[in-house]
Amino acid sequence: MEPVDHTLLDGVLARQLRPLAKAITLIESQREDHRARARVLLEALLPHTGGAMRIGISGVPGVGKSTFIEAFGLYLIEQGLRVAVLAVDPSSTLSGGSILGDKTRMELLSREPAAFIRPSPSACSLGGVAEKTREVMLVCEASGFDVIVVETVGVGQSEIAVAGMTDLFCLLQLPNAGDELQAIKKGVMELADLIVINKADINPVAARTARAQIKTALHMLRPMSPNWPVPVLTMSALRKEGIAEFWDTAKRYRDTLTASGEFAARRKHQAATWMWELIDAGLKQRFRQHPRVTAALPGFVEAVEEGRVTPSAAARELLSFLNE
Ligand code: GDP
Repeated sequence: MEPVDHTLLDGVLARQLRPLAKAITLIESQREDHRARARVLLEALLPHTGGAMRIGISGVPGVGKSTFIEAFGLYLIEQGLRVAVLAVDPSSTLSGGSILGDKTRMELLSREPAAFIRPSPSACSLGGVAEKTREVMLVCEASGFDVIVVETVGVGQSEIAVAGMTDLFCLLQLPNAGDELQAIKKGVMELADLIVINKADINPVAARTARAQIKTALHMLRPMSPNWPVPVLTMSALRKEGIAEFWDTAKRYRDTLTASGEFAARRKHQAATWMWELIDAGLKQRFRQHPRVTAALPGFVEAVEEGRVTPSAAARELLSFLNE
């Protein structure tokens, strides 16, 4: 086993930003020797993790995520807290950029010493991006951040991934009639612990109508927790209106679910799910790399496609090669 890099470890624990950035670079590296060093570092940091409130923020592009996160971050810093902002954007692998890649976004927040902003890691799959973000989150926690915000674009599986790594998953919505139905169709609303209708300044009446419609729509869904009817807030991130109410609601959420035991239970469940995801991925990789499987696979696929062998018989046979 690699010895732990004490300079890096001590720097992260001492809340220094440069060692933090270095540790994250190590975690995000694809090189096997870097992975080994990152694993040792993470093990050493683990006892110091768990202290932050992990908040996921999702919503379609243009809804105001970065405007909100900047205003929220600055508000938290005013309260004497430190905030880290991470992102999960699987498209960053393809585009080379990411939702937080543009430095002009959150410009004020990025200048704050009590803030740390990191763009989405690039990895070849959403699973890879999510895994690295989870690890980065742990390092940030060990480095004493009080709140960790994980931003994601409002598309596809990335929302499920972020809801699966945060304590509170928040959906930002526009005050458009019909928008809420879209969210329900996609199943995103079921993941939300909190819904915020942003840009309420443009049309406060429309925002209130949307709020009522979403509340009605929420009645049709099974709540995530019997102790937490999902609140629907209105906000103007641009005018910094509704930010304090958001934070008060988040704290009330934490207190309510801590009292019921659900806060800790969710984290336990997330940790176990994470482990199983890695086991699934590892087994699949081992299977695909097994020499007998590699040799026999094309023949089996063809036989299954042509209907000469049943999929279940082929799967059973191929899996049995793993025992050899
Ligand atoms: P993102 O793509 O979800 O990160 O959205 P941005 O934060 O980049 O915001 C998109 C646009 O909406 C920008 O021009 C913002 O200035 C604007 N915007 C964000 N929040 C509000 C708001 O509360 N009210 C109004 N009127 N505009 C907003």
